[in-house]
Amino acid sequence: MIQKPTPTIEDYLGVIYTLDRDGEKVIGARLAELLDVSPPTVTVTLKRMLRDNWITIDDKKQIHLTPTGSIAAISVIRRHMLTEWLLSRVLDIPWSELHAEADKLEHSISKDVEDHLISALEDPSACPHGNPMPGQESISDDWQVLTSFLIGDTCVIKRIHEWLEDDPGMMKFLEAKHVLPEKTAKIIDISHTNKNIQICIEDNYTSIDFDVADKIFASRI
Ligand SMILES: [Zn+2]
Repeated sequence: MIQKPTPTIEDYLGVIYTLDRDGEKVIGARLAELLDVSPPTVTVTLKRMLRDNWITIDDKKQIHLTPTGSIAAISVIRRHMLTEWLLSRVLDIPWSELHAEADKLEHSISKDVEDHLISALEDPSACPHGNPMPGQESISDDWQVLTSFLIGDTCVIKRIHEWLEDDPGMMKFLEAKHVLPEKTAKIIDISHTNKNIQICIEDNYTSIDFDVADKIFASRI
């Protein structure tokens, strides 16, 4: 029986898993940025995680999950995504607020409740923002970032990346502009000078900076 990590360790495990999934280098500085904590705090926490066998750190200072760490990371991400669905379907919490609310609740969901959620929610393959459940990453194989489309293209929004979910102001903006999974978007303009892309969804014209559009995925139609 694996000992359950503390909420702080679970947060680290989730971010490490997600960076690794995306093929990004997992280093302390990136964790400090994404978890919004100081680099010295990250160093202290990583030492604890190393001691408790959640991670290994190689000679290039890159962090890797151990098999135990990986199981724990997958567990917390699943609980997070299921909680988002619960809050959405049962309590009708706004789409833009689901992530932040689930962040608080995910740590206290037991395995028993998780199993009930999986069956009640019919084992979803992604969260309400379109991010794949661990093990279901192949659903996103044909989705491409908004910046890869051309003027005049039409696409269906599929996924708002986890790093955008972490920005409540951005999530509110996207929700207000109908930039939501399963909405059809037309690419109106791409400005390399202003580094933004203009899209139209349900008569809403929205300019999105390239660095945000690079974290929104859509499928071509
Ligand atoms: Zn989500």
